[in-house]
Amino acid sequence: MSAPNSAAGNSSTRETFLSVDLAKAVQHLADRGTTDRVLCVFDFDWTIVDTNSDEYVIEQLAPDLHSRFEETRLSTPLFRQSWLAYMNYLMGQLHELGFSAADISRSLKATPLSLEMQEVLRTLTASGKVDVVVLSDANEFFIRETLQHYNLLEHVSLIISNPFLHDPRFTILPFSPTRHSDHICTLCNDNMCKGTVLDYILDKTEYHRVVYIGDGGNDFCPSTRLCSSDVVMARDGFHLVRLLRKYIAAERQKAVSTHGAHLHRRRRAKHTSHPEGLRGQRLNADKFDVDAEVQVWCSHADLLALFRSLLLPQP
Ligand SMILES: [Mg+2]
Ligand SMILES: [Zn+2]
Repeated sequence: MSAPNSAAGNSSTRETFLSVDLAKAVQHLADRGTTDRVLCVFDFDWTIVDTNSDEYVIEQLAPDLHSRFEETRLSTPLFRQSWLAYMNYLMGQLHELGFSAADISRSLKATPLSLEMQEVLRTLTASGKVDVVVLSDANEFFIRETLQHYNLLEHVSLIISNPFLHDPRFTILPFSPTRHSDHICTLCNDNMCKGTVLDYILDKTEYHRVVYIGDGGNDFCPSTRLCSSDVVMARDGFHLVRLLRKYIAAERQKAVSTHGAHLHRRRRAKHTSHPEGLRGQRLNADKFDVDAEVQVWCSHADLLALFRSLLLPQP
């Protein structure tokens, strides 16, 4: 299955890039049969790519704007509160400076995406046993353009991110606009609770193993939804690994502190045994529970080696 692409290429002036019908896309995965398959869920910024794609585009197209990036964000209460609001402000600035969607697309072609990460994605799909999902709070347009540039789109089953509207201004829409008012996950941004999205996928499918690969604070929420036979691959030096170290049980701390170390694993019963209480409820910091095996990686070469040892044993 290629990444759903409902409207890209549409010649109308109002264009939504890659507005995913999540229910349909997940059903498509489920219909293929998932019981003997592995689901690999990748974050995008600082996970698949070695940068923050939002900031990267601004840096490439408008260095002056980028030079005030942090200053502008920190001096405006709304921007401090909402990354999405800040990105929309910056997208508006790009539009006023006369940049087109094609300019953004061109700027993304230089996004750093290592040969090892390309190898990871290609090897996973070549195994014939893995579905790759990108779950990101960036936006669908940036992700798709980047993956397309590296000829990686065919290795991704589904991109789940904020829609990008070109109308003809650039607007990044919240992935879950209806959840704004009742959003109470304290780990994720208002516009996307990654744990809720992962729960949705796992409720509709029966993957025998899930691997979650990420770096950021909002990657901790989906990490709490996994079972003991699943794996979280957390990037060293970033917020996710700090949260894992903070909240996992004391006896498991040592394993997380070592590159390549892995924790003891138990077979989990079924994904539906995930604590239902976490869904849609305020998360209590004392109750965070990460049952999954935790692997720490630093470079994409580490990640490739991890995948080879865990999922793709050499003959
Ligand atoms: Mg990230
Ligand atoms: Zn969340």
